[in-house]
Formats: sequence, C-alpha cells, structure tokens
Amino acid sequence: MKTFALAGNPNCGKTTLFNALTGATAHVGNWPGVTVDKREGVYKGGAEQAAVIDLPGIYSLSPYTPEEVISRNYILDEKPYGIINIVDATNLERNLYLTTQLLEMDVPVIIALNMMDEVQKAGDKLNAAALEKALGVPVVEISALKGTGIKELMARALAMPAERKGSTVLGKALGRQIAAAQAFYEEDGVSSPLFHAVKLLESDELELAKKGAKEALERAAGGEDMEAVIADERYKYISANLATAKVKAGREVLTKSDKIDRVLTHRVWAIPIFLVVLFLIFHLTFSEDLFFIGAIADAAGAPLPSVADLGYVLEDGETLTAAGRTISVFYDGAVFSPGVILFNALDACTSSLTDAIVGAMESAGAAEWSVGLLGDGVLGGIFAVLGFLPQILLLFLFFSILEDTGYMARIAFVLDRIFRRFGLSGRAFMPMIMGFGCSLPATINTRTLADEKERTATIRVIPFFSCGAKLPILTAIAGGIVMAFGVGNADVITFSMYLLGVCTAIIAVLLMRNTTLKGETPPFIMELPAYHVPGFKNLMLHLWDKTKHFVKKAFTIIFASTVIIWLFSHLTWNWHYIPDEEMQNSILASIGMFLQPIFTPLGFGSQLGAYGWVFAVAAITGLIAKENVIATFTTLALCIGAYVGEGTEEGIEEVTGLIAKISLETGISQQEFISALIAFIAFNMTTVPCFAACATARAELPRGKFKWTLLFWLVTSYITGTVIYTTGAWIWPVAIWIAVAAAVTALIVLRNLGKFDICALFKRRKKE
Ligand code: GDP
Ligand code: MG
Repeated sequence: MKTFALAGNPNCGKTTLFNALTGATAHVGNWPGVTVDKREGVYKGGAEQAAVIDLPGIYSLSPYTPEEVISRNYILDEKPYGIINIVDATNLERNLYLTTQLLEMDVPVIIALNMMDEVQKAGDKLNAAALEKALGVPVVEISALKGTGIKELMARALAMPAERKGSTVLGKALGRQIAAAQAFYEEDGVSSPLFHAVKLLESDELELAKKGAKEALERAAGGEDMEAVIADERYKYISANLATAKVKAGREVLTKSDKIDRVLTHRVWAIPIFLVVLFLIFHLTFSEDLFFIGAIADAAGAPLPSVADLGYVLEDGETLTAAGRTISVFYDGAVFSPGVILFNALDACTSSLTDAIVGAMESAGAAEWSVGLLGDGVLGGIFAVLGFLPQILLLFLFFSILEDTGYMARIAFVLDRIFRRFGLSGRAFMPMIMGFGCSLPATINTRTLADEKERTATIRVIPFFSCGAKLPILTAIAGGIVMAFGVGNADVITFSMYLLGVCTAIIAVLLMRNTTLKGETPPFIMELPAYHVPGFKNLMLHLWDKTKHFVKKAFTIIFASTVIIWLFSHLTWNWHYIPDEEMQNSILASIGMFLQPIFTPLGFGSQLGAYGWVFAVAAITGLIAKENVIATFTTLALCIGAYVGEGTEEGIEEVTGLIAKISLETGISQQEFISALIAFIAFNMTTVPCFAACATARAELPRGKFKWTLLFWLVTSYITGTVIYTTGAWIWPVAIWIAVAAAVTALIVLRNLGKFDICALFKRRKKE
C-alpha cells in the first residue's frame, strides 16, 4: 500500500483533509518521545487503497522545533511514497515557503490548494495550471471542509511516478554554492543530496553535526552563514514567480486575519493594546476587586457591605457562619476575580483538612512536636504552595491562549522594532514570555536564536520574567502588605513587580550588549500564522502537564525542604528539641542571623530585628525551588505567630501576621518596611533561579559563561534590591540613583554615537 504524508503549515487544513480522507480508519497516537499527535489512517475512496499520515504543522524544515524535526525525519527516514503538501490558498506566499523546501527532497510531491471555497467566496481566482508549470509537480484545487476536489487529488497522487529528483528555486542566485555542497553529499550516496546541501548552507545544526560537514561548508560558501540570504531568496522567488498565480478580484479583499491585524499590530496602538491585554490577564487572576466594582462603590459614597455586615456571623460578631464562609469565597465587600475565587475555594478545603488532622492528632494525645511538625511544617508548607496552583494555572491558561491564537507571534513581530534598540531581535521575545511560565523550556527555546551572544544575553535575563513558582512570593507578600498595612492594591503591586522584572531585563540586556556581549543583532524572519481559535484539547494538555509538574514538586522537593526547615528551626546546636516559643535559639535562626547583615542594604537585614532572619532563610531555601520561599515563610510564620499569640488568629494570612509582628516589635516605619518587602520580592525575582533552571542554563550556555552568569544574577538582584529599598525608604538617595542612571544612559548613548568608548577608558587605565 502506498503511504502519503500530509505536510503543511499549522492551520492549513491538514487534519480536516486527513479526516475527510480516512474517516473512521484513523488512529491517533504520539510521535515517539514527544506529546505531538500522530494520526494514521487508510484512504479507501479510490481504485487503490492508500495509507495516510498527518504530519505536525510546520513553517519550515529547519530543526528548531520538535514538530519540524519530526516532519523532516519522517520524510527523510521513513520515505513515504509521496507527500501531499497542503497549501492554504488564501495565504499563498506564506505557505509556499515550506513548499520550496519540500521540493528539494527526492520524493514525489503533490500540492493540494486548500480553502478554495474561501478564495472563491472572496471572488478571487487561482491559476493552478501556471503554478503546476512553475513548480513542476501536480497541483489540485480542493476544499477539505466542503470535500471538493479530494477524489481528484488522490487519483493524481496515486498516479505519481515513484521516483522524483529534488528541485530548488534557489538555483539562479546560489547555484555555485549549492552545487559545491551537493558534491559533498553525493560522494556519500546520501538520498536527497540537494535538500541536505541547502540545509548545510543554512548552517543547519543537524547537518553540521555530520562528519566533514564543516569543511564542506567552508569549501562551498567560505564558511559564511547563508540562512538569511536563502530565506530571502525563497521569498523573492515566491513573490516574483508563484504568488502571481493568484488573480485578485477587482477590489482588495482583506482576510479576517488582515482585518484583525490592522488593529492589533497597529503602529501606535499595538503596544498599548498588548499592555492592556496583559493587565486584564493579571486582573482576572489576582484582583480582589473585580473591575474595581468595590472601589467604584466606595468612591460613589455607597460602599458594598462585607459578609460580616450582611449578618453572616456568630454571636461573637466576628467569626463567620458556614454560609458566611461560603459567600466570602466569592465576595467580601468587593467581587473577587476568578483567580482569587479559585484560590479561596482551595484554601477553604485545605484549611479544613489541616484543622481536621491537627484536631484528630491532639485529641488522640499526640506529642506536641509531632503535631507541630505535621501541621505547621509539612501541611503548612505544602498547602501554602499548592494553594497558588489555581492562579498559576489560570495565568498559564491565558498565556497558552495568547500563543495558540497567533497573537504572541504578532507581538514578537511588533516588538522586534523595539527589541532591536536593546540589541535583541524579536525572536528573543518568545523565550522571554515563556519565562513567565517556567525558565526551563524558555531557556531551551533560545535555540531559535542563531547568534551566540544574543542567546547568552537572553538566557541570562529569562529568570527576570517571573516564573510560575515565583508567583506565590509576589501574591503572598503583596497580599501581606495590603492586609497588614491596609494600603495599596494587590494586583497593581503584582503587575508592577512583573513590569519591574521586565525593566531589569531591558537594562541588563542593554548593558551586556554594549559591553561584554557586544555584537550585531541578526535579522528577524518569522511567519505570522493566521488567527484562529485555540484547540481546547491542546490547552487542557498543556495545563495538565503543568499541574503534574507542580504537584510532583510540592510533594517531593518542597516536602523534604519543609521538613528539614521545621527540624532545624526546632533543634538547637546540641540537638535539643525546642518548642515554637524558643525558636530564636534554633540552628536555623542562628544561621539566618549570621547571614542577616548581608541583606541590610536591601532593607530585610538587621533592620528587621529579631525576626529578620526569616527573610534570609527564605531567600536561601529559594535556591532549591522558588516555591520554597513562601513555604519556608509560612512554616516559620506559623511558629512565630503562635508565639506572639496575636495578629495571626482568624485565618489572617501567615505572612500578614509576620509582617504585622515585625513592624510592631521593631517600630520600623511603614514606608521603610514596605520598601524592604518590595526589595525582598525583587531580590527573589532577579536572583539565581532554582536548581533545575541553573542546570538547564549551564547546559545551554556557551562554555565558560555559566559562572559569570551566576555572578551576574547575584549582582543584579543585590543591586535591584538595594535600589528599590533605598529609593523607597528615603527620598534623598533617589537623587543619587537618578544621577547614576542618567550617567550610565549618557555613557551608552555617547558610546552608541561612537564618541566615547567605555572599554577604552578601562584599558587605558590598565596600561598606565
Ligand atoms: P491543521 O492545523 O492543518 O490540522 O488545520 P485544521 O484541519 O485543524 O483546520 C484549521 C481550520 O481551517 C479549521 O477551522 C478548519 O475548519 C478550517 N478549514 C480546513 N479546511 C478548510 C477548507 O477547505 N475551507 C475552509 N473554509 N476552511 C477550512
Ligand atoms: Mg492538525
């Protein structure tokens, strides 16, 4: 039975065609090792049966994404009888880019011009015969959705001769180099020598890994990287020779995507719109006052009643009744956002579970230390971290939607103009935005950046794009500030902290690209996919992956570290158990107190007096996993709170309790303390990331760069924290920092203008 592989861009209608061809015979599995769907089935509608396989959607055959590698290797290694290249006829130029690459392989190709129903609806025509002549392979007009042209497509596919030699559209411009590279592969008798030759000229890493390939590239192109030239030639050829097959109707018809793009990628509005979208996402995830309804009612002089005001209280006038507690999940003087509602609901479940377990242990007469270890240590830590899962998932869901709809790609395109000023290309945007989810995949994703220096700079700033695990630090402390001092607005603080991370990244990149990582920014080539509604199943798969990962971490690393922290905070140096009240004498406290002065310039050192060591300990445990910061905080705060006895009852957040206690005991001013807390968030956001992220960065960075990267993270976080604390706590140092910032900016501007060389200044010094 002949096997045909369906290849094409994402959303060109592959799956629709696949379903139309194979009907009930389809079988869905996974490609080995990756969670990319593999669909196989049999076509029975013709004279002869044929096997059909749906390859993942791709824009090119470069080895940048797993999808591209899968498709490429499938065609090269499994050698299907032929390729059915599906081309979205409403988007000819973009789709034919892949076609020009497929044609370079030694495999029969037939082109299915899909979405012809749309083309006709717009009143356009396509000259399939002209296209067929230009490309030298059969071209058939179809509509996968309406089922037209499919029989003809398969009849012609089955009639294709079994052999075909690859052909290229690059012959005119790059004939000499291609012939030279091709000779290298032909010597070895590899099949598809033309395809490999062109890829080699693109400095494709899979090709370069082959023996003798580097030398062959040197011979063919003088070692020059021709990737951009080749891409450019392909487009030039397509727009000059192939796209002309489209006969436009008299009037210019804009596709739906074009219309949306007019707004979303508008020269002026694109970025404000993007910021609004981001703010909305954060608002829906973190706000305790959805759409500012509560604030508006306040301003109008008719504040909304709290749940207690509504009378859902017991006799003491404070404790909520069961009904009151249920209502307060959704509303308490203001409507909560979906994120907060989910958080509250989960929190209600976990705290009743903890209460039940602790209650049962106490009534069974369990030892005090065991109740403490389980209640405050293990359960407190794990639930503190798990509690943030709903908000992390929600945030992740929003980002996946932005990505799947094609909006992220637009933003990368829009931002390229701006990124260029800082010495990065728009391509660096994807890994950065992925950093908001997790630094690991983000760091790996930097492989799409061809330039080594650009890549190093990007990897270094990825942790500043605050990941899911750092989110609890933000929300808990922002929430703590709001609750303890009754000032500010949690989602505004959270959003500004994210913005701060981004600003730090920008400044850091700017500095690096002007000093240690100087270099040209490579050109930006990216395909803009058409907008579409994201697949539900895909989204859910993403979310499930995330949940699994997070829960696993909560029950392994975080479980272990909370137990260790609890033990060290309840043991003295001579291994005596001490109750909560004497925690000041514990091993952990003395280590924390020893380290505390290091953080004094950042505001959470010696100023915070007897409990300041908690911050030092939390920051350090964060190096294992960022979730630990809040898990540690909670474990310690529960104990300290119990000791102080007031302020932490009634389910006020543990962090709030700690903040309230410290400010009461040290008499530190509210302004100074808030600055210190914000500095603490900033420090954790910009410092050395978790173990796993460090290991990935180490693997992905060029040799010898990792130790400098570690130092870079330490220095950046220390400086950022210090700047924030001093700026926030006292007004006068602000002037100094502004002066420093202005001086640095001036130096960079001057240097860019070529009038001043910072490095030369230092070099001259050394010589003297
Ligand atoms: P894939 O990503 O290549 O597998 O694309 P899908 O098969 O999922 O199709 C993407 C979208 O295009 C879906 O909304 C389809 O309904 C739509 N589509 C596919 N083929 C056609 C067609 O021939 N005409 C029209 N109008 N829409 C189509
Ligand atoms: Mg599909």
